[in-house]
Amino acid sequence: LPERSGSKAVRAVVDRSGKTGWISNVQRHSTEDGPGIRTTVFLMGCPMQCSWCHNPEGRTCDPKLVWYAPRCVGLRHCLEACPVGALTLSARGMRIDRSRCDGCGLCQGACPAEALEMLGRSRAVEEVAEEALRDRVFYDRSAGGVTLSGGEPSVQREFAAELMRRLRAEGVHVALDTCGGTAWGRLAPLVELADLVLYDLKLMDAASHRDHTGIPLEMVLENARSVAGTGKPMWVRTPVIPGITDGEENLRSVARFILSELPNVERYDLLAFNNTCVAKYRRLDWDFALEGRDLLYEATMERLAECVREEGAAFVRWSGMTKRATSP
Ligand code: SF4
Ligand code: SF4
Repeated sequence: LPERSGSKAVRAVVDRSGKTGWISNVQRHSTEDGPGIRTTVFLMGCPMQCSWCHNPEGRTCDPKLVWYAPRCVGLRHCLEACPVGALTLSARGMRIDRSRCDGCGLCQGACPAEALEMLGRSRAVEEVAEEALRDRVFYDRSAGGVTLSGGEPSVQREFAAELMRRLRAEGVHVALDTCGGTAWGRLAPLVELADLVLYDLKLMDAASHRDHTGIPLEMVLENARSVAGTGKPMWVRTPVIPGITDGEENLRSVARFILSELPNVERYDLLAFNNTCVAKYRRLDWDFALEGRDLLYEATMERLAECVREEGAAFVRWSGMTKRATSP
């Protein structure tokens, strides 16, 4: 698994008052994270370490500096701005010494070409709420809303709760996207504030689950049962990762668990693997464990969805990038 922190010198802390939170992205006009047109707020920090993670910058609560080679015009203002000498520019590109970089962002501000970017920043709950509320007209017209995702929102549970309360007070539908890899006592208050819970079930074999996520399966299943016990509507989601989660028996097993233990699941989504995050890993100086792994075939996704249907889960659907219309 890749190293978890972007910058060793960064000592970011979670604001337990909930007034500010580490946010890696606010994505508008999202249609994949719940019903209707939504804004997805990506909170940083995650207890899991999935090798296929698409938001690696969000694994820890700290800013992470990246450099975009095509934008760099070589003026070296960033090198002069850096107070700790963490940057070296050569013909081979920009080297960021992450053991020195403390994420101050001065280099980003000094670059006229916007070739340096800090991924993730601490933002006030009110600022994030106001940004999300700008698209309220779209939520109203499409029965959409706002989804808190990550990372895992319960890592910054005080901020997540504040944001959810603020949005609910405005009458906005709020969904919580959780990996379930945390103590129920941390998750429960957020589930209570959610109109819908998007719940990830990735692997149903205990050893594989621990190997690939670092978290015990039983905790995730027990939390899923607890969410079901609240009666909140749930959508279960499985990222379909070639060679890891794409086994027919794994997906059939998820379907059986849903049908036998989660009566409030309205929908089961199979999310096809895509490898577009590889460039992001490189910019963070991390290895992407699945680099070179190909997209799945459309026919493979159809077949896997059919397996799930055969188990009785007619509410399954799949989405995502696929290789082409035919099977191998
Ligand atoms: S100026 Fe840039 S490279 Fe230097 S410490 Fe600050 S963020 Fe890191
Ligand atoms: S649970 Fe999601 S955010 Fe966390 S490591 Fe896994 S894929 Fe990434």
